[in-house]
Amino acid sequence: MYTCSQAVVLASGNAGKLAELSRILAPLGLSLRAQSELGVVEVAETGLTFVENAIIKARAAADQTGLPAIADDSGLEVDWLQGAPGIHSARYSGAGDAGNNHKLLEALQDVPWPDRTARYQCVLVYMRHALDPTPIICQGSWEGHILDSAQGEGGFGYDPLFHVEAFNCSAAQLAPRTKNRVSHRAVACAQLVAAVERDIAQRTR
Ligand code: IMP
Repeated sequence: MYTCSQAVVLASGNAGKLAELSRILAPLGLSLRAQSELGVVEVAETGLTFVENAIIKARAAADQTGLPAIADDSGLEVDWLQGAPGIHSARYSGAGDAGNNHKLLEALQDVPWPDRTARYQCVLVYMRHALDPTPIICQGSWEGHILDSAQGEGGFGYDPLFHVEAFNCSAAQLAPRTKNRVSHRAVACAQLVAAVERDIAQRTR
């Protein structure tokens, strides 16, 4: 099942994710390939949960390449909005990051601070092959509050509105290195590396 320098396809078109995951998977002898490089045709994300969507993407990439596949799905969950925008985070307003942040601010107008709790979620899935009945599923979350106005220029998406208590600033005001150390994605990535390492050890014994 596992060989030296096993190629694994990443079911994402995001170059930043490819670089980050490549770096942390290299010590395990896994070399990550972009799905675009392998001609994978993207599939519709028809699931109702982050887990379902990550599995759908990983399965399609594994099916089309014959390689093990990794996929992620992430987004923002706001408690006052019963978990919205959730799996619809990227397309919440249909008008990009600025439109999404504007819509979120409107939806939370006059909501008091204690009720503005939210978290980023990141699910990472590793499928050994397209019919894998037990994909490795890892989940990282990052707790915060939604501010009543945008703060900071860094990050992307909802970061200017996402207040991080430990640093008393928005995610957009954090140094990228700090965000990459503490974020939902960092937590899920760390779990994935440990889980895949255990899996390789068990299956090559
Ligand atoms: P993706 O699944 O990583 O492409 O993320 C889906 C959407 O969730 C993004 O388009 C953003 O709106 C939101 N999102 C996920 N992670 C972050 C983050 O770290 N900062 C800000 N927004 C995020």
